[in-house]
Amino acid sequence: MAQAQLSIDLSALQSNWRALDAKSGPGVQTAATVKANGYGLGAGHVAHALAHAGARRFFVAVAEEGIAVRAALGPDLPIHVYSGHMDGDSRLIAEAGLIPMLNSAEQLARHLETLPGHPFGIQLDSGMNRLGMEAPEWEAVAEIALAQGAQLVMSHLACADEPDHPMNAQQLAAFRRMTDGIGVPRSLAATGGVLLGPEYHFEITRPGIGLYGAAPFMDAQPVVRLSIPVIQIRDVMAGETVGYGNTYTAPRDMRLATIAAGYADGISRALSGKATLWAGDTPCPLVGRVSMDLLTIDVSNAPEPPEWLDLLGPHQGVDALADVIGTIGYEILTSLGQRHARRYL
Ligand SMILES: *Cc1c(COP(=O)(O)O)cnc(C)c1O
Repeated sequence: MAQAQLSIDLSALQSNWRALDAKSGPGVQTAATVKANGYGLGAGHVAHALAHAGARRFFVAVAEEGIAVRAALGPDLPIHVYSGHMDGDSRLIAEAGLIPMLNSAEQLARHLETLPGHPFGIQLDSGMNRLGMEAPEWEAVAEIALAQGAQLVMSHLACADEPDHPMNAQQLAAFRRMTDGIGVPRSLAATGGVLLGPEYHFEITRPGIGLYGAAPFMDAQPVVRLSIPVIQIRDVMAGETVGYGNTYTAPRDMRLATIAAGYADGISRALSGKATLWAGDTPCPLVGRVSMDLLTIDVSNAPEPPEWLDLLGPHQGVDALADVIGTIGYEILTSLGQRHARRYL
């Protein structure tokens, strides 16, 4: 079998949820963000495991993502939708029992017209200028929204992964100006906000990335391991070239392993010539280009010809791999391909 193995450690995921939950007081509910198919790890598996760990509320990005989460959770636990109530979503929102976080007066009107009496929340913009109502729009509709029973009012921080950034305090102040005294549960903190401290927690936090084992939650346990099987090993002589475009010329006699994963599996072509994989404890550089289904790895230093190489594992987490090509752990996780054999531990 030439299929890479993606192992997903659900008990590490659960520990990460508990560890983030322990960072806020007993009056604060720690929810879980499981958008983008649970950050690429499988929304159903992830939501189910987190519910067992104690999560009682979930967030997705778009209504369609709520279907798999609802199927995994059963009918009772609330699932919120960050993109709110889009045209055409009413049936899905009603059937899956989703709570749209309404981002504009227009969405509020749509929701109250098409699904009167169905739960909703409100998303405010406290300065990020991405989603949510700004202060004047909120002022215009707050009375109606609160009278109609808004269940949660939230906003999102732009710089929470930089604790000393002045934007954090600015957004906190803006959020408080818009919401102090409304008498409805509030949420401002994702993973970064949880780590900023209690004044950012309000009634509900909604971490994502920290659950999946990545920065800015530095104490997180790693959740994923990606092991790729070796298809073939060959010896090349100094001066021979490797892979598409002849971009790599062997500087000395060396031993290469050709392994079964490539950019079609979410392994960015930008890693060509830059990544390191691991044969047990031995680092083995990727040489030449990443191709669609294959990588070529210099295994000259491995004590014996390896059968598997780890791209993600104990020696290299998602953040370390992300650093190699100037991206973030979020992108590494959500790019993980559909061709890997997924094992849930
Ligand atoms: C993705 C997202 C989150 C979760 O953020 P993390 O940084 O992954 O913890 C929370 N809130 C909103 C609005 C989001 O888009």
